[in-house]
Amino acid sequence: MKYTEIMIRYGELSTKGKNRNRFIKQLAQNLRKALQQFPAIKILAKRDRTRLLLNGEDSDLVISKLRKVFGIVNFSPIIRVEKDLEIMKSTAQAIVKEQYKPGVTFKITAKRQDHDFQLDTNGLNQFLGSAILEILPEIKVQMKKPDINLQVEIRMDGVYFSTSTIKGAGGLPVGISGRGMLMLSGGIDSPVAGFLAMKRGMEIEVVHFASPPYTSPKALQKAKDLAQKLTSFGGNIQFIEVPFAKIQEEIKAKVPLPYLMTITRRMMLRITDLLRQKREGLVIINGESIGQVASQTLNSMIAIEDVTTTPIIRPVVAMDKAEIIELAEKIGTFQLSVLPFEDCCTIFAPPSPKTKPNLEKAQAYEALLDIEELIQYALKNISVTKITAAPNQIPQNVEQFVDL
Ligand code: ATP
Ligand code: MG
Repeated sequence: MKYTEIMIRYGELSTKGKNRNRFIKQLAQNLRKALQQFPAIKILAKRDRTRLLLNGEDSDLVISKLRKVFGIVNFSPIIRVEKDLEIMKSTAQAIVKEQYKPGVTFKITAKRQDHDFQLDTNGLNQFLGSAILEILPEIKVQMKKPDINLQVEIRMDGVYFSTSTIKGAGGLPVGISGRGMLMLSGGIDSPVAGFLAMKRGMEIEVVHFASPPYTSPKALQKAKDLAQKLTSFGGNIQFIEVPFAKIQEEIKAKVPLPYLMTITRRMMLRITDLLRQKREGLVIINGESIGQVASQTLNSMIAIEDVTTTPIIRPVVAMDKAEIIELAEKIGTFQLSVLPFEDCCTIFAPPSPKTKPNLEKAQAYEALLDIEELIQYALKNISVTKITAAPNQIPQNVEQFVDL
């Protein structure tokens, strides 16, 4: 049977009081973007749910896209027919027949919004139940956890049949919470951090520090490919490449080895913050997790964060590496992240960075650099690329993703 529409439900959105309209509008806009390859689809956004009229578009493909749209709690593929008992009977029969295998159980769950309809819910359950038994006499009725639960809703504009409720990605529609600058390396953690920020409704722009000729074009491409993976959760992403070699050379020449990493991070953060200001971002997002490496101890965070008062969101801060990896696998970034192209930090990494850097010392060493000039050089030479969601790419990992 061909589905005629999909019913989308959004639990968290509906509790947002006055902001509800804004949420629903943003979700509708994101749906339009996510489904742009299906021009016939019509989106009807309502207070309590949103309907997607498929108008002949392939429901399997549409479902695979919907699973990645934040702000959806769950959705059901629907077959809508006229309020005519004969049509309802043959539709119910066809749906169950299609899903039937020897030994399966079923039940009918009827609901009625239109109280003028000729049968009440009991009458509907009986009428449609006997219609199924008529064509499949050996099928068993089971009230608790049947294999097939045929839900029938008599609404004002027709009868809605569905047999499944599919879990959505949850979260809030991307864009509703404002814009954040994601510091994206080529590693495992920062793409996951970006995913989680998007899940809470943030629109992201990516800042990536590259150090050619020390880093290869492949490392840059890897970061872009990671950003591309994230587009399937929220649409196009602006990718800002910052040339970092000159700054790293200068730091290496002037700063004592134990503070190399601290000063490098301070420079990255300063530049990211200036880009944020220019591009109207509200916060900075990174992939730091407490204690993972020397730059991610609490003391390091203090010595690095000193350069800005902008909130730094660290979505994976309290996650173990194994948990981050598990999520990276689910969202399809892990395989890319483990490709062995060295990034700017690994190449310039000192043998033993300070795990407890001292803020005053960091400031003093930094004074050896012409910070202003270095930053201006980097900002002048950034390049911005729009990473677009590949419209015909069937999302991978959809099955795993749904269990998030
Ligand atoms: P990741 O897996 O995200 O690279 P990591 O555990 O390797 O994280 P670090 O290399 O110490 O940790 O980096 C910490 C954070 O700093 C990263 O999560 C990322 O947000 C940011 N970062 C590191 N390198 C870069 C880079 N080349 N460009 C942009 N941001 C970076
Ligand atoms: Mg890294």
